[in-house]
Amino acid sequence: MIQTTQPMALTIAGLDPSGGAGIIADVRTFVHFGVRPAAAITSLTFQNSERVFGATHETGASLRAQILPVVGEGRIAAVKIGMLPTADLVLEIARLLTETDLPAPVVDPVLQSTSGYALMEKEAVAALVTELMPLARLLTPNIPEAETLTGLEIADEADMREAAAMIRAMGAQAVLIKGGHLNNESERYAVDLLDFEDDVKVLSGEWIESPPVRGTGCILSSAVAACLARGMNLEESVVAGKEFVAETIRDAAGLAQRGASGSGNAGR
Ligand code: PLP
Repeated sequence: MIQTTQPMALTIAGLDPSGGAGIIADVRTFVHFGVRPAAAITSLTFQNSERVFGATHETGASLRAQILPVVGEGRIAAVKIGMLPTADLVLEIARLLTETDLPAPVVDPVLQSTSGYALMEKEAVAALVTELMPLARLLTPNIPEAETLTGLEIADEADMREAAAMIRAMGAQAVLIKGGHLNNESERYAVDLLDFEDDVKVLSGEWIESPPVRGTGCILSSAVAACLARGMNLEESVVAGKEFVAETIRDAAGLAQRGASGSGNAGR
């Protein structure tokens, strides 16, 4: 028996050995929110903070073998799903969610790395839309991901609303479209759109000037899953998740500034 009174959350995602994204970022986030982490690997990636060099993917069978014994102990209160490179993995997860009592997952549809490396095959994206989206508690695409999933071009908040409605019509219980990629030199704001139950909420936050921070999508989706595991409702979980990502970006901005002024510990 697992000896803990903490709620448990399971991340099903890729391993980034450099720790910036994927499972290590998810586990860090679960621990921050007082949630005991469990993890299943979909892909062993080869990367550092600069770029992705390649990956060896798990199979549906090896993913099932990782997850079933953990599910069997009946302690998983929330699930976060990240990098799913192949249709085989997507279909296996859809089967596991249907066959077991795993809670409906927070799904981060990870299509490519910040550096532009494709993390999901085309057939996997198609399987995600038809098989996994209808099982999702929440889908958390950024703008380019929402564009790929809906075929829409998203340039403003009205487009975000239309894309969110389409994604919910595809079966997701809720969707959070992250508007960070809408920002340009003249408009500095961070607007996310949450479409859930009978409501659509615009969640705006301060725009924090910083160097690109890796893993923010992983951190947000795992923070939401952690808060759900702690019994918070979806909106509270999303607000808390956004605040934690903002904190992470503020930290990175502070580190970069200290590095630039030569007085800090940026090389640590
Ligand atoms: N590697 C893995 C294993 C990931 O799960 C992700 C994102 O979810 C990435 C890389 C991409 O992260 P980034 O956007 O920081 O490049």
